[in-house]
Amino acid sequence: MEVIVKRSARRKKTIQARMVGGNMEILAPASISDAALAGHIEKLQTRLEKRVYPKDDLHLQKRADHLNRKYFQGSLTWNCIQYSTNQERRRGSCNCLARTIRISNNLAALPQWVEDYVIVHELAHLLEPNHGKRFKALVRRYPLAERAIGFLMASESLQQRNLREN
Ligand SMILES: [Zn+2]
Repeated sequence: MEVIVKRSARRKKTIQARMVGGNMEILAPASISDAALAGHIEKLQTRLEKRVYPKDDLHLQKRADHLNRKYFQGSLTWNCIQYSTNQERRRGSCNCLARTIRISNNLAALPQWVEDYVIVHELAHLLEPNHGKRFKALVRRYPLAERAIGFLMASESLQQRNLREN
């Protein structure tokens, strides 16, 4: 995991860390000293790694198996499900022909029920390639779907605002 520091004169006190494409991005005020920042980075890194590290592709496979059994009667099959680092904007993608699913690794840092929603969304694409009525009905089998969509929209607009700040 690479650490990228972005300093901003407009940022007053708060130091923020976020995962961007598998790297940790630190947003810091311009005025903070390197020494002080290093201490903060170490703490943030430990916290983030704890959250992100246990989640590897095997974790995704296990979640997908579980969600397949719970919401699709175990009827779905796929070739692989993997984290992807190069889709910062997209939450996930499904190649229906190759039956491969990619999940943005930014989701690994979000609560499990939110990541589960994205997995259910991509699993549903194995049956329905588009976002039509039938697709929506499949996704709604996951009871927290609406809440997760709200959660993702809120966290994505927050991320956009942070990007504009820098
Ligand atoms: Zn979709």
